[in-house]
Amino acid sequence: MNLQEIVEQIYHESKPFAAGGKVATYIPALARIDPHKFGISLKTIEGKTYSVGDHKEHFSIQSISKVLSFTLAYSQLGADIWKRMGREPSGTAFNSLIQLEHEKGIPRNPFINAGAIVVADILCTLYDSPIEKLLNFANTLSGKANVAYNSEVAASEKSTGHRNYALAHFMKSFGNIHNQVDEVLEVYFHQCALEMCSDTLANVFLFLANGGINPHNSQPILNPSQTKRLNALMITTGLYDESGDFAFRVGMSGKSGVGGGIVAVIPNKLSMACWSPALNAFGNSIADIEAMERFTTYSGMSVF
Ligand code: GLN
Repeated sequence: MNLQEIVEQIYHESKPFAAGGKVATYIPALARIDPHKFGISLKTIEGKTYSVGDHKEHFSIQSISKVLSFTLAYSQLGADIWKRMGREPSGTAFNSLIQLEHEKGIPRNPFINAGAIVVADILCTLYDSPIEKLLNFANTLSGKANVAYNSEVAASEKSTGHRNYALAHFMKSFGNIHNQVDEVLEVYFHQCALEMCSDTLANVFLFLANGGINPHNSQPILNPSQTKRLNALMITTGLYDESGDFAFRVGMSGKSGVGGGIVAVIPNKLSMACWSPALNAFGNSIADIEAMERFTTYSGMSVF
């Protein structure tokens, strides 16, 4: 099987689908991105890379960062983390407030905004400089120091983040945010502003295909059981209210962000990162999903 040929074929077949979506417009830095950008990167656990298109261009990873912050918190707290959040699909939008009152400030899972804000709170408790810690963590996972925050995006997230303030204050009223809301959201807004290219994103997530071991320095990040569970969590909740459809069509554990990135993993085989900024109504990239569906179809590789 020629993976480079497959990657090029899925690129050409999936690119036109971006015309059916819209780039995120809630902040100027995302609204001005060219919707025709498209990059695909595949990285195998043997260390081979296959890429096509705009795979070296940096983009805002947005909610994909929720997996990185969660990994850091989970590696420190272990199963105690489930006292603060659940692991069920939410069946609601990523920034929904609706379930939180019924469920007494315990978010359904770490990948909706409420859950990621609780994770940011945990990082504030664990580390003196959680923003730097998260950046260093992402760089260690990438194998190179080419991940950075975009300060314009972080500042815009803050000035438009009314729903995230509402979520954080609401959870604080239930006792599920321990630090100051401003401090916690500073971490959350920065993590949303992390930027990298699809080559780096595929590199950063390769540890989830590698039994929890960072393939770039052989250091364990999560134990095998935690790695299995994190992959399960991504497959059930990683694309919000479209997670079921993504599992059905693609068959990889994935995580999306409103910057247009999706990263996905097949344990013991590979990680794949796509970037196309045009989104569907769920806030997920249309062309990325098309590309990933074609990849598992043409290669015959998937989780299932
Ligand atoms: N910055 C966005 C928010 O908090 C991230 C959402 C996303 O990527 N789904 O609303």
